[in-house]
Amino acid sequence: MNSDDILRRLEELRADDLPTHGGRTLAYVYDSGLAEADRIGKQALAMYASTNGLDPTAFPSLLAMERELVAFARPMFHGGEDVVGTVTSGGTESILLAVQGARDALPGTTAPVMILPTTIHAAFNKAAHYFGVERVAVDVDPITKRADPAAMAAAMDAYGDRVVLVAASAPSYAHGVVDPIEEIAAETIARGLRLHVDACIGGWVLPWAERLGHAVMPWDFRVPGVTSISADLHKYAYTPKGVSLLLHATPDLRRPQFFASADWPGYTMLNATTQSTKSGGPLAAAWAVVNLIGDDGYLDLVRTTLDGTTALVTGIEAQEHVRLVTRPDSSLVTLDTDETCDVFTISDQMLARGWFVQPQMSYRDMRASLHLTVCAATAPAVPEFLTALAESVEAAVAAGPIVIDAELRAAAESLDPETLDDAAFDGLLALAGLGSETGAVTAPEQMAPVNALLDVAPPALREALLIAFLDRLSR
Ligand SMILES: *Cc1c(COP(=O)(O)O)cnc(C)c1O
Repeated sequence: MNSDDILRRLEELRADDLPTHGGRTLAYVYDSGLAEADRIGKQALAMYASTNGLDPTAFPSLLAMERELVAFARPMFHGGEDVVGTVTSGGTESILLAVQGARDALPGTTAPVMILPTTIHAAFNKAAHYFGVERVAVDVDPITKRADPAAMAAAMDAYGDRVVLVAASAPSYAHGVVDPIEEIAAETIARGLRLHVDACIGGWVLPWAERLGHAVMPWDFRVPGVTSISADLHKYAYTPKGVSLLLHATPDLRRPQFFASADWPGYTMLNATTQSTKSGGPLAAAWAVVNLIGDDGYLDLVRTTLDGTTALVTGIEAQEHVRLVTRPDSSLVTLDTDETCDVFTISDQMLARGWFVQPQMSYRDMRASLHLTVCAATAPAVPEFLTALAESVEAAVAAGPIVIDAELRAAAESLDPETLDDAAFDGLLALAGLGSETGAVTAPEQMAPVNALLDVAPPALREALLIAFLDRLSR
């Protein structure tokens, strides 16, 4: 292929993707609406694409930019001189390292556990799975959806010496509320435990929200007992994908995260993160965008975003059949419906109107809901969004809620995924509308029936079905 063919093909391939710009995709992507920030980020990404963060002595540029990003974040999160940081590839990697480091700081612990609110990001479940740290998920307050410090303290006591980490969110992804970090920290200090605050999504919003006069519960290094914080730059810092920060209160707390191996005949491997060879591109891009936008720029972006969120909340409250699940603490809005319609149909209807809103399935006593991440570029489009939402809700009410056949529901509730073989998965995927009996899978036109069916399956079956789906999709 020549360069023109390649560029044409790359454009064609993108045609079916969600739009990354314009503010109409309310999950996955973040748009500042600042063309210059996009331009400088892409330029820096390209300039540093071939550099290798494997060895910081070979590419001191990367170390310098990492230090400067940490220096930018540290005062934002009210960290003292001792706070140290690492640039990682994303929120998941920051969380994986926080869990791995906490586990390895207490090497004598048999059957380590971490105490988490149920609303903590699923990246912690992945860390539990990877690192053999059992996850103890404590129910949150049923109304506010905030973590329950007394219940978490009881869990800390129940697991005693096995606890290696406690974590909470600022704010949670699913409901957009900040957990009571101060109260949880009082419990972890009393027991000498590490406390990680997952500010992956809020880290680049809450500091400016507070300066703008919004009520923000203390969540950062000002709270004694907070030992680490994760904050993603590829979310509200509006940098290209692949950059998050993991900050530790002291170098001692961070040290178990580092890995060296001299036990082979090649170069001595020395890594701060899970990756070894890694492009310096995302780091350079983040450095560029953060320096271009700067403190004042983020203040403006957060003001725009939170004004947009307020307008969105007011508009949703004025509509029939949909309601807020909780009052948002920042820029994430969660809504559900009354019994006349369902969120899955609304999501499909919104997509048909050019808006992506993210379905969240029911979990324990929580009903299925829709997640909206508001970014700066969404704010000016809020009136249009509300019109599309009203139309979508009307269409969903006209269609009525999706009803899952009682027999199918009973089957879904009782199936043990451990007992299913490949043929059974093919059959179930076909039944769910995700594939055919022959094992070929397709992404369906309408997601609502699929989501509604998955929603009645317990999480373990949902996971097994989705893994079977991915396995077939990626062959
Ligand atoms: C996005 C997010 C994560 C995971 O981050 P990735 O960058 O998707 O790996 C973790 N926690 C919270 C609160 C998030 O919003």
